Amino acid sequence: MTRRKIVAGNWKMNGSSESVVELVKGLKSNDAVDVVIAPTFVYLPVVSDALKGSEIKLAAQTVSEFASGAYTGEVSLAMLKDFSVSHVILGHSERRSLFLETDAQVAKKVLATLEVGLTPILCVGETLEQREAGTTLDVCNAQVDAVLELVGVEMFDKVVIAYEPVWAIGTGKSATSEQAQEVHKGIRDNIAEKSLEIAQKVAILYGGSVKASNSAELFAQPDIDGALVGGASLDAKEFNSIIESAK
Ligand code: PGA
Repeated sequence: MTRRKIVAGNWKMNGSSESVVELVKGLKSNDAVDVVIAPTFVYLPVVSDALKGSEIKLAAQTVSEFASGAYTGEVSLAMLKDFSVSHVILGHSERRSLFLETDAQVAKKVLATLEVGLTPILCVGETLEQREAGTTLDVCNAQVDAVLELVGVEMFDKVVIAYEPVWAIGTGKSATSEQAQEVHKGIRDNIAEKSLEIAQKVAILYGGSVKASNSAELFAQPDIDGALVGGASLDAKEFNSIIESAK
């Protein structure tokens, strides 16, 4: 089964209204790969404008699970749709660890995102302690299962999963392609227990210190369907090379 590659850039809390437009101008998409970029909320309007006529898709880095109302500081899915956002990164490890997002909350956000027709990018991954304790797959599959139980397997082919080992994020220390492949396969096998057909359709991206020098090897693995790139997505040349290597 051939799945289309996705290369997504998570810009995190970086940039200025000027620099994000410069960055967009430097990006080169191609027909063979879905390219997604995720600026912070306040720059969604300028980036959305800068992307007019481009194939590159726009993502948010999180969203509220609530529709509207008295939720100070939150941003709704309807607001994201207003600015042509198509993807939402959910359950990133920084949101789980620094902002105490729980599995239950992540599941609600994924469901709400699917219900309005946007694509969730669900992040899962183990800490170094969990890897050393041999519980990597249990941890990742428990994070996936929390969402699967609420959403149901039928809709799960519309979810993009990003396997991001916490110890590899922003550390320069990527998982090897073999380590990543093993977990991607384990995640797909777990979904296959509920539905083989859906499991074969789900895109599973790798994230954690992806750069131009290691992306091709990662993308060559049978269960790695692209990447969620942090630091390296802030450099247009480097990000373009990663996109190119996904062809
Ligand atoms: P990194 O971040 O590429 O800087 O390691 C990845 C991520 O957090 O999505």
